[in-house]
Amino acid sequence: PARPEGAGPPPALSAGPLTEGEAKRLLAAYGIPVTREATVADADAAAAAARAIGYPVVLKGVSRAVVHKSDLGLVRLGLAEEEALRMAFAEVTQALDRAAPGAGEGCVVQEMARGEAELFLGAMHDAQFGPMVMVGAGGVLVEFLQDVRMAPAPLAAGDARALIEGLRMAPLLRGLRGRPAADLAAAADALVRLSWLAADLGPRIAELDVNPLILRAEGQGAIAVDARATIA
Ligand code: ADP
Ligand code: MG
Repeated sequence: PARPEGAGPPPALSAGPLTEGEAKRLLAAYGIPVTREATVADADAAAAAARAIGYPVVLKGVSRAVVHKSDLGLVRLGLAEEEALRMAFAEVTQALDRAAPGAGEGCVVQEMARGEAELFLGAMHDAQFGPMVMVGAGGVLVEFLQDVRMAPAPLAAGDARALIEGLRMAPLLRGLRGRPAADLAAAADALVRLSWLAADLGPRIAELDVNPLILRAEGQGAIAVDARATIA
C-alpha cells in the first residue's frame, strides 16, 4: 500500500507510558486529527485555555499512572462556561490527588467534539505476525461487545474500509432510523495512518489505543478524543 501524505516520521519517544497529550502528538505526526488542547496547572490557566479553544470544553486530569480516567472522576464533559470549568478544575484536581497520589501532571482543557458514532482503534506488535491494527466499537462498548477486527499493518485504504464495514456495528455507522451516516472514509483514513505508525514503530509499540475516535456525519471527518500508548 501507498503511504498517505503526512504519515510520519514519528517524533522522538521515550520508553514507558505516554500521557494522553503525548500519545495524541504521536497520532498527529501521522496526520490523524486530534482535539485542540492545552495542559494547565491552575484554574486561571484553565480559564485562559478554554477562552482560546472555545466553550464548551472538556477537562481531564492527567497522570500516566491512570488507565481509565472516567472511572476515577477525571473526565468532565461539556463544560459550558468559566464558572463550571473552575468548579470542575477543583474537583478533578482533588480526584487526581486521590487516584494518583504524587503522580498527577495537571489537567488538560480540550475542545468538546460531537459526532454520530465512536470507534476504538488499536495498534500492536505481534511477536509472530508483526505490526497489527484493530478496530471496533468505541467507548466502554469495546470490552463489552467483542466486536473487533484485526489486520496486518500497513493497510491500504480499501482494506481499512472493508475492515470497518465488517464490524457487527457497521449498520449503526451507516445511519440507522434517520440518523446521518458517519464519516467512514475519515475512519478508514485514520486507520490507514495508524497502520503506518504501527509499521514504523514496530516492536516499540507495547500498546496503543485510540478510544474513542469520534466520527462526525459523512464528509465532516473524525477526531481522536482519547489516546493511550506505552512505548517499549
Ligand atoms: P477514559 O480514560 O475513561 O477512556 P476518555 O478521555 O476516553 O477517558 O473520556 C471518556 C469518554 O468521554 C469518551 O469515551 C468519550 O465518549 C468522551 N470524551 C472524552 N473526551 C472528549 C472530547 N474531547 N469531546 C467529546 N467527548 C469526549
Ligand atoms: Mg477513552
